[in-house]
Amino acid sequence: MPSVQRRQRRLRASFLQGRDLAIDLGTANTLVFHHGEGIVFNQPTVIALNSRTGEVLAMGDEAWEMIGRTPAYIVAVRPLRRGAITDFDITQRMIKLILRTVGVTRFAKPRVLICVPSAITEVERRAVEEAGLSAGARTVALIEEPMAAAIGAGLPTHEPIGNLIVDVGGGTSEMAMVSMGGIVAMHAIRVGGFDMDAAIQQYIRREYGLAIGEKTAEQIKITTGSAYPTASHRPAQVRGREVTTGMPKVIELSEDEIREALSDNVRAIVDATRLCLSGSPPELSHDVLDRGIFLTGGGGLLRGLEARLSQECEVPVHLTEQPLETVVLGAGRLLDYLPDLQSAFFMNPQMGRR
Ligand code: ADP
Ligand code: MG
Repeated sequence: MPSVQRRQRRLRASFLQGRDLAIDLGTANTLVFHHGEGIVFNQPTVIALNSRTGEVLAMGDEAWEMIGRTPAYIVAVRPLRRGAITDFDITQRMIKLILRTVGVTRFAKPRVLICVPSAITEVERRAVEEAGLSAGARTVALIEEPMAAAIGAGLPTHEPIGNLIVDVGGGTSEMAMVSMGGIVAMHAIRVGGFDMDAAIQQYIRREYGLAIGEKTAEQIKITTGSAYPTASHRPAQVRGREVTTGMPKVIELSEDEIREALSDNVRAIVDATRLCLSGSPPELSHDVLDRGIFLTGGGGLLRGLEARLSQECEVPVHLTEQPLETVVLGAGRLLDYLPDLQSAFFMNPQMGRR
């Protein structure tokens, strides 16, 4: 039997035993942790949308595959790009597609733990819960992403110690002080990796009259982008299309120029981190002086971001081991405690939000 089929069959069998799922529905990437299995789904948060009817046809890799082979009114959309889970139907359909892809049948309803941004409103929170239930979950519990990240990073979240998490995602960045099992102070901004890509695109168009695609911009960011001067001075070769003539052209871009292009976004992340630190109770921010800040999320991989945050906040900064997976791994660890989840880890509605 091919290994894929074997895996599917094993997944179905374990669902029948009532296994549970944790879902990190990120602005850029969606990950699913299956209790007892580990990460079983890791795909971009992209849907194929019929722009005439509004129907969601596919998600993730499958959505990318549809585009180009289907009529022009089927388009690829990043539904959570701006951070908020605003559209109930789309959220519900996405969760349904995820459950189907990981092998959930109609008869084996899993319990599902969904990671949500800490700045989510009460209305959005209920919408996510209901979307999960109507997508086939037996029960739905929610956990705030920074809390899941802190657990995923192995931090002592239930002790009276200040743990400062900075999670730089695709569409948003969240800064949160976690202590005694709750979020004590937080700051969220709608700036992340997507904005860095857009800033590189704009810079190249403005300075060189060259148009480049989003994916090319992301590639430049990953290979040559930085938030702090690095030892290497390798320029990036950029292939694009001259705006005036439409002709293909190659230019060279120095590391310094790319850092300049990213500077506003990096500044916003640094400022939000400082605000979260200064808005925390003094005993907890004092802990951060010794223990440092824990940086996570794909955007945390930007070269020199650790050094930059450390310099500007005057505390040590540690990048978590698997920044793209920290949140779902933390939520996955919580599945062991799912029966107690409501009391032990559920979000505190009294928490101050902006
Ligand atoms: P979200 O949780 O919002 O889905 P992720 O944590 O998955 O976001 O991070 C996705 C972002 O991380 C993307 O914008 C991607 O370009 C960026 N990213 C991934 N790897 C790197 C890297 N090595 N350097 C800089 N940015 C990166
Ligand atoms: Mg995330």
